[in-house]
Amino acid sequence: MSLAEKLSVAADRLLCAFFPRRCVYCGRLIVPEHTVCEDCAANLPRIAAPVCFFCGCAKADCTCKQKKLKFDAVCAPFYYEKAIERAVHRFKFEDKDFLARPFAQEIASAVHLNFAQQPFDVVTFIPFTKRQARSRSFNPSELLACETAKSLELPCAPLLEKLFETETQHHLSQTARTGNVFGVYEVKDAAAVQGKHILLVDDIKTTGATLSECAKVLKLAGASSVYAAVFAVAKKKKGKTAYENSGNGENTGSGKGL
Ligand SMILES: [Zn+2]
Ligand SMILES: [Zn+2]
Repeated sequence: MSLAEKLSVAADRLLCAFFPRRCVYCGRLIVPEHTVCEDCAANLPRIAAPVCFFCGCAKADCTCKQKKLKFDAVCAPFYYEKAIERAVHRFKFEDKDFLARPFAQEIASAVHLNFAQQPFDVVTFIPFTKRQARSRSFNPSELLACETAKSLELPCAPLLEKLFETETQHHLSQTARTGNVFGVYEVKDAAAVQGKHILLVDDIKTTGATLSECAKVLKLAGASSVYAAVFAVAKKKKGKTAYENSGNGENTGSGKGL
């Protein structure tokens, strides 16, 4: 280790004496050189290549039968389970907005890995209604999109608007979810979308109804392509999704239990 590296480690340790470092997934205290605790590192439900771009699951786990939604493809670094489920909960419901950066770095890596051939012009997100924006300290999708854009060295722009509140998605069936978000989103400025290759970022994909609806309106406004990237994909469990079982929902809810 060079002197500069030793000094950097010493400075890091000193900093950690005042601001203890915690695992980004579970929040447990960890040694300064790490960002993830041993437990989480051993249990991260990473999605292994090759990936099914219709649902975002590893092909080995896919049960979607290539059901076509309106986005061109979707990918994610993780499944929504174990340490990731806890981490997303901390991020969204305990207002740990600083988690957006490490999560977005994982999303950006998944985009590099899976959409290497795809050029992107702009990154965007699933918007809140004005009322939601007032009642929440941040929009998880927006924060992740902005941080992902930074990692990918792309601009992040609010291309969509959410016109009215929707019912929380988690207790709805796939068909009801699609109906629930139908007509809810609108493109802000068609000129900003026309001919663009767009990367749509969100925290979690369950049925994909929200991502699909947003991709649909972007394409109707003239987008050349809409690819989706999320932090975690909920696996389907016997007619339900893991997410439904956990009591949370997609990023379309009306405030609290999203
Ligand atoms: Zn941990
Ligand atoms: Zn699939």
